[in-house]
Amino acid sequence: MIDKFGRKITYLRLSVTDRCNFRCTYCMSENVEFLPKKDLLTLEELETICSVFIDKGIKKIRISGGEPLVRKNIIQLFQKLGKKLNTSNLNELTLTTNGSQLKEYSSYLYDSGVRRVNISLDTLDEKKFHLITKKNNFQSVFEGIKAAKKSNLKIKINTVALKGINDDEINNLISWCGDNQFDLTLIETMPLGDTDILRSNNYLSLSTVKKELMNKWTMEDINFSSGGPAKYSYIKEAKIKLGMITPMSNNFCSSCNRIRVTCTGKIYMCLGQNNSVDLKKALRSQKSYHSLENLIDQSIIEKPKEHSFTTKEFSGSSIIERNMNVTGG
Ligand code: SAM
Ligand code: SF4
Repeated sequence: MIDKFGRKITYLRLSVTDRCNFRCTYCMSENVEFLPKKDLLTLEELETICSVFIDKGIKKIRISGGEPLVRKNIIQLFQKLGKKLNTSNLNELTLTTNGSQLKEYSSYLYDSGVRRVNISLDTLDEKKFHLITKKNNFQSVFEGIKAAKKSNLKIKINTVALKGINDDEINNLISWCGDNQFDLTLIETMPLGDTDILRSNNYLSLSTVKKELMNKWTMEDINFSSGGPAKYSYIKEAKIKLGMITPMSNNFCSSCNRIRVTCTGKIYMCLGQNNSVDLKKALRSQKSYHSLENLIDQSIIEKPKEHSFTTKEFSGSSIIERNMNVTGG
């Protein structure tokens, strides 16, 4: 699948639920209303979508959400997709999770063929954890991380950089990741849907963060790519890779290789644009496979050149109505 800007699309991010057991302030409102359950695709339907995408050239699938591991029987989807690893175009199956359910699921994920996992963790401080997530799951996240390590899952930590909240912790996070040999990726907060907070109050440009980090750490820019938008440096003292995802301060759309599907079957060709292609109707009709292929082709043709959000939107309403838990992070 090659779009009209010559970008090869090989990476599918699939949101399997919009539900979550956390309420991270930059992601969603505390009294968020989730979609009615009847609107969600079944696990079988999600698998069918993945199969069509794989046949069309998708090599990597990341399961996301909401919190993917709170979806009932989600391991069945991992098991089904895991069987396609290396017997089809698919060569990587992975997930992004808040870590709170990993104590229960890590070994099943490994057995399904998952080898790497992104765990979102914005702080090492229990009080701040509550401030950010509005929940008391600090211990369960750390137990989850321990279990994932024990199950031989390679861990990357994702941290949203938040001015006035965790900017004083970035050095500690690097040291902690170094001690555990986890790579770390910092992410700029994006104006995706409305929340209870004004994101501008906590927006932190990673260009500024990088300059400060360079005073403390020996950082060497490296060409490594995990197939995503992060630009990596190697931190010599911690012996880890530090990724920076800078959608706000430095647009990276020219190398975008991904496409997103929501738990209701909508393809979003860009996280930061509103156009979408709906797969649900075709999925539930008789002649579904061929029409799904046609709709996927249509979405690739319509993939926009770049996202259009800017830091100006932090002060008003976001032009993107979907919060990240809907599109899948
Ligand atoms: N619940 C899982 C988790 O937190 O890892 C998966 C879904 S979550 C939407 C995926 C990622 O999106 C997380 O790393 C989270 O920090 C990030 N995220 C959510 N809202 C965001 C926003 N407005 N700007 C930047 N990153 C955001
Ligand atoms: Fe849930 Fe992930 Fe959003 Fe936090 S970032 S509220 S864990 S979906």
